[in-house]
Amino acid sequence: MNTVKSPKKPLIFYYLLVMVALILFNALLMPNISEMRIQEVDYGTFISMTENQEIGEVEIQSNRILFTDKEGKQVYETGLMDDPNRTERLYESGAKFSGEIIEEMSPLLNIFLSWVLPVLIFVLLGQLLTRKLMKSSGGANSMMFNMGKSNAKVYVQSSDGIKFADVAGEDEAKENLAEIVDYLHTPEKYKEIGAQMPKGILLVGPPGTGKTMLAKAVAGEANVPFFSMSGSEFVEMFVGMGASKVRDLFKQAKEKAPCIVFIDEIDAIGKKRDGQMGGNDEREQTLNQLLTEMDGFEGNNGVIILAATNRPESLDPALTRPGRFDRRVPVELPDLKGREEILKVHAKKIKIEGPVDFEKVARMASGASGAELANIVNEAALRAVRDGRKGATQADLEESIEVVIAGYQKKNAILTAEEKRIVSAHEIGHALVAAKQTNSAPVQKITIIPRTSGALGYTMQVEEGNHYLMSKEEIENKIATFTGGRAAEEVMFGSVTTGAANDIEQATKLARAMIARYGMSEEFDMVAMENVTNQYLGGDASLACSAETQTRIDKQVVELVKKQHEKAIRILMDNRVKLNELTEYLYQRETITGEEFMQILNG
Ligand code: ADP
Repeated sequence: MNTVKSPKKPLIFYYLLVMVALILFNALLMPNISEMRIQEVDYGTFISMTENQEIGEVEIQSNRILFTDKEGKQVYETGLMDDPNRTERLYESGAKFSGEIIEEMSPLLNIFLSWVLPVLIFVLLGQLLTRKLMKSSGGANSMMFNMGKSNAKVYVQSSDGIKFADVAGEDEAKENLAEIVDYLHTPEKYKEIGAQMPKGILLVGPPGTGKTMLAKAVAGEANVPFFSMSGSEFVEMFVGMGASKVRDLFKQAKEKAPCIVFIDEIDAIGKKRDGQMGGNDEREQTLNQLLTEMDGFEGNNGVIILAATNRPESLDPALTRPGRFDRRVPVELPDLKGREEILKVHAKKIKIEGPVDFEKVARMASGASGAELANIVNEAALRAVRDGRKGATQADLEESIEVVIAGYQKKNAILTAEEKRIVSAHEIGHALVAAKQTNSAPVQKITIIPRTSGALGYTMQVEEGNHYLMSKEEIENKIATFTGGRAAEEVMFGSVTTGAANDIEQATKLARAMIARYGMSEEFDMVAMENVTNQYLGGDASLACSAETQTRIDKQVVELVKKQHEKAIRILMDNRVKLNELTEYLYQRETITGEEFMQILNG
């Protein structure tokens, strides 16, 4: 926001424009102002006017002759000719010789016109331009004069500020932050004992889990001003500007203490300094300044810094050491109960019609973040409006989960009967393999209505409760389930399609993780072959082993997946009748619920 915006045209352009205007004004307009009344005529006219005694006054200058008519209204000008008897003739014609047909402009006016006026115009234009540019780029901070000032947004609390009650779930994080609120309310209690509040608190977690909301809620609960700024706003085009912004932010914060300073996406400035040549000087200087500022202010002065990031591992260790961001509050994806609460909080903002089972909806939306849940509720409301209803219903919520996860229904995607049958078999294959391995309902619902995300069919998994550990068998079963779709195609049609691309990817990822990360292979025992980077952003892994080892890992991955694929085929073969029956059911109805599935399976 506060990056140095160059105005659309550089400032110099406007100054040049003014200069050119001035030069033109002086060159063209100025002479004309004084000589506006002069009409140029040829020498013949002058002679004939002399003969006809029509000349009133005459003035012979070094290079021209100026004369007026008898009334003295019009001034004429003509060139100077070699004409020896001119003076006599003029005298005889009764013309009056004059020295000042054209009155000299008063020197004061002259100075005014050629010096003062231009300067005035200059200043006026300058003023106008500055005002216009400031307005167009959003306030007084945008121009060069204000570079390096922080423009942290200040939210002075009002009664409708965000409170902890607005942030659903996240009980651990709230509990942790409640202490800060208490401190901001009654600092004496802490000072008496000599306890120091942490200066900085780092909120870490995946995107959309409510980190920003929590920070605002702390300020809302404590009823103190809230300064918010994103890490990337510090990083400027010019070295040193970010640092001066940090200084400015802290200066403002100290003036307003007690208050909360919130730095979003702190990894933008807080990345590890790697000391390489040609590193990002600006970022490093900004970080250094932040470190200095954090050291500089006394604990217990009422300024609490909250920062959010989804890449805590990339932060500079100097930033996370005690005395700086020494407390880390994880803000994780919500569990079932958390999801239900978040749905309820957001459902209050829309009109609901009829009974809604939020638990069921939460169960269906497994793995969704707070932001996604908010989106689901909003989609439901939009759907109700689209259908001309007065409020959102359970069905709206359920459909919008699918919209948020899998995209809108494709209204005019026409699958051939054969394709539809293959998709049915594929989806039933997954579900059947899963059901036979665990002996429980594996899915909420399966549909084969194509979605805009490209999915031709869609299986909504059953929430497996809060599950923190997975055994080797469970992972193997999961891989078998992933291969179940393709296995069903093979069993039923004896051919394969492209539909399994995503399953293949996921199965491979799991198998690789088993071997390289979870120590679940005989050969590699408990040796880590890959490291996870970006834990909160998809959890990519990078290999950390030699090329030969990689080859062996690849071989094992293939073996592992192959074994599970064979297992899936065996399960489906053994249940061939049920597979046919279920596929037919799904083919006819296009949607099958978990209960219907189990009924047919056990029937
Ligand atoms: P983050 O900063 O973690 O990326 P935000 O705090 O900006 O996420 O959350 C984005 C939106 O998601 C919020 O405006 C809110 O509507 C919704 N949201 C996220 N988590 C929660 C929660 N725990 N309770 C209620 N709403 C939430």
